[in-house]
Amino acid sequence: MGNKIFNIRMRAAKGGPHEKGGKHISGGEILANYEDIQKAVNDLVEKALTHSRGNPDFMQIQFEEVQMPVQFLAPLSITANHVLSVREGQQLAMQLLRKCGVPSPSIEKAYELIAQPKNVGMRGAMLLHVQSGERVDNRGEKGVRVSRMDWDAANFEKWAIRQEMPRSARVKEAITLATKVASHPEIVAELCWSDDPDYITGYVASEKIGYQRISKLKEFGDERGFRIFFVKDALNLDSYIHYLEKEPTLLYWEEDDEKRIN
Ligand code: AMP
Repeated sequence: MGNKIFNIRMRAAKGGPHEKGGKHISGGEILANYEDIQKAVNDLVEKALTHSRGNPDFMQIQFEEVQMPVQFLAPLSITANHVLSVREGQQLAMQLLRKCGVPSPSIEKAYELIAQPKNVGMRGAMLLHVQSGERVDNRGEKGVRVSRMDWDAANFEKWAIRQEMPRSARVKEAITLATKVASHPEIVAELCWSDDPDYITGYVASEKIGYQRISKLKEFGDERGFRIFFVKDALNLDSYIHYLEKEPTLLYWEEDDEKRIN
């Protein structure tokens, strides 16, 4: 990458902007050098205009120079878990969360939150205290949106071929986000599945268990998607929300990379 790095972000909605009650259709972001901004904008526009959640009537694209130093991380290690039903997938997700140190009552609280209609259609993640299961971010329906992260396309392709993973933008974005989130020492685990009705695969990720892909976490046609981050304590909340939202992170994989490179 050149000297200066830019963050390009897109969000799209239907029925007006998100803040005026529009339905979230698509969001995305790219870190690029100056020469690649045009391509990044094109890629994001295409993503929003072809999303299976519907055709947007509102889109916002913005870019800005990233002023902070970039941290480089190696992608989390991947495990693919094939399950036959949503029930089996969800049971595995809960088992993996427990393995990360999330107590069962906190997992139950997370699922109660997910079931509440007001939490459906969030653009960002909910942060839950790992011991109490209480929600600790005060971002309401918007949640906390992890931002300023990316993974060079050619390096991702090499990694995906080696790992026998789909070479899709979706996989790239999910692993980039999960790696950034897991690398924060206060974040114990992440649970995610997509809000795209055509995409039923989800994951549990953490520094301890890596990225555990689960082939089925919801039924086809379901537009409900979630991200939940379990955090150790709520005292440093501002510091890790700042990390998630603002501090730039790039993934970089090397052939014999099993661990983080910084
Ligand atoms: P997606 O993986 O894009 O289908 O998103 C699944 C869910 O994760 C969405 O419904 C949001 O609640 C949440 N989400 C999507 N993008 C982000 C992000 N950048 N940061 C935090 N949460 C996100």
